[in-house]
Amino acid sequence: MAKILVIGGSLGGLFMANILLRAGHDVNLLEKATGSLDGRGAGIVTHDALADALREAGISVDDSLGIAVSKRITLGADGNSLGEIALPQIVTSWSRLYHLLRENFPNERYLQGKNVKSVLQDHQQVKVSCEDGTSYEAELLIASDGIRSSVRTFVAPSIQPEYAGYVAWRGVCDESHLSQHTLDTLFDYFGFCLPKGEQMLGYPVAGPGNDVTLGKRRYNFVWYRPASEDKELKNLLTDADGKYFPLGIPPLKVSWKHIASMREQARKLLAPQYAEIIEKTSSPFLQAIYDVRSEQIVFGRIALMGDAAFVGRPHVGMGVTKAGDEAMAIAKHIQALGATPAALEAYSKERLSLGQQVVARAQYLGRYMQAQGRKGTVDGRGLKRNAETVMAETAIDISDLLAAGKAVPESQY
Ligand SMILES: Cc1cc2nc3c(=O)[nH]c(=O)nc-3n(C[C@H](O)[C@H](O)[C@H](O)COP(=O)(O)OP(=O)(O)OC[C@H]3O[C@@H](n4cnc5c(N)ncnc54)[C@H](O)[C@@H]3O)c2cc1C
Repeated sequence: MAKILVIGGSLGGLFMANILLRAGHDVNLLEKATGSLDGRGAGIVTHDALADALREAGISVDDSLGIAVSKRITLGADGNSLGEIALPQIVTSWSRLYHLLRENFPNERYLQGKNVKSVLQDHQQVKVSCEDGTSYEAELLIASDGIRSSVRTFVAPSIQPEYAGYVAWRGVCDESHLSQHTLDTLFDYFGFCLPKGEQMLGYPVAGPGNDVTLGKRRYNFVWYRPASEDKELKNLLTDADGKYFPLGIPPLKVSWKHIASMREQARKLLAPQYAEIIEKTSSPFLQAIYDVRSEQIVFGRIALMGDAAFVGRPHVGMGVTKAGDEAMAIAKHIQALGATPAALEAYSKERLSLGQQVVARAQYLGRYMQAQGRKGTVDGRGLKRNAETVMAETAIDISDLLAAGKAVPESQY
């Protein structure tokens, strides 16, 4: 049994902590936030590997994991179908996964209000100090502390998030608020709408209390829109009182003026079904889209995983599955080699290039939106996307492509 610290109590950290605890280790998890993290996420596309990671974390996976969608559809600006493909998938919500993982992990090991401020290591152990004056020692430290990982700033300060040139407006709309027309033509599908240089997508998710009964569900949407870094992004990240949030604006702080303007644009650019969903979503929020590509994910007794290691733009729909995969890989190598730097090196060998491939594929899928933000200067390749390719390539299971090293089509290199 080894003493292991996990930093970050979101989905990645919870996968890791649950899996290691089940393997018999003495695991403590340090999370900066106090209270429940619920309410931070919206929809999540699942893949087979996600179910594997949940099982390894000790969670039984059944039909209640999410909602089954059978087909994808792209709507034109007039609301009519531009094309459809059959692609069965289970879509769920961040909140559903968080509850499953959190309830499975003992409270006394999930330590909150622990903002990691420094990390030191020697040949024997790692020592972590938190802002509240507490400190912890362990044989290994696994950091799943997100895109702006504090641990990463200690071990690899040069790895920084890079803005992709566009933002995602997100939100969830109650099924019961929607017109029969939108329910009949869109609600049950993984839907898209593709205004020039932009992308709207959405799918049904559970309603409050993870209720998946008809009439109680919600529709989750993500609308990608170009925004120049210096002007538009800064403006969007500034609240109605003029306060600027460079690292991301809290959902309820998004200016009502920006929401009003976004809704107006939705009426002009999107299929009426999507415009209705956006109109009836009470608190749309927005996130800037970033890439994080690490050249190194293991530093002696410290490993980076989840969004701390790699962030692929959400078009790949892989963030949570990737975190689950990485957690399984770390646990497997600790099982084989003990809680040693060698085990973490074996994890790096297995996952470094896969993580880099996920980032590359996500960049490929988002390149045409990035091109709008930079006035078409992105090398002219792969900028045109039609409904068929977007439906066939977005948020699909790419495990075979990753294994073959072909996450990005050769023609796109
Ligand atoms: C628009 C959008 C759509 C997405 N859609 C999907 C999808 O369809 N499918 C999918 O799989 N993924 C999706 N993702 C990505 C997914 O949300 C993440 O990849 C996933 O949650 C893994 O993140 P993580 O646990 O590593 O980090 P995070 O979820 O960022 O959590 C990091 C945790 O670390 C804590 N922390 C940070 N600093 C410290 C510190 N100093 N000390 C202690 N704790 C700290 C934070 O409070 C937080 O709880 C999407 C993301 C976006 C933006």
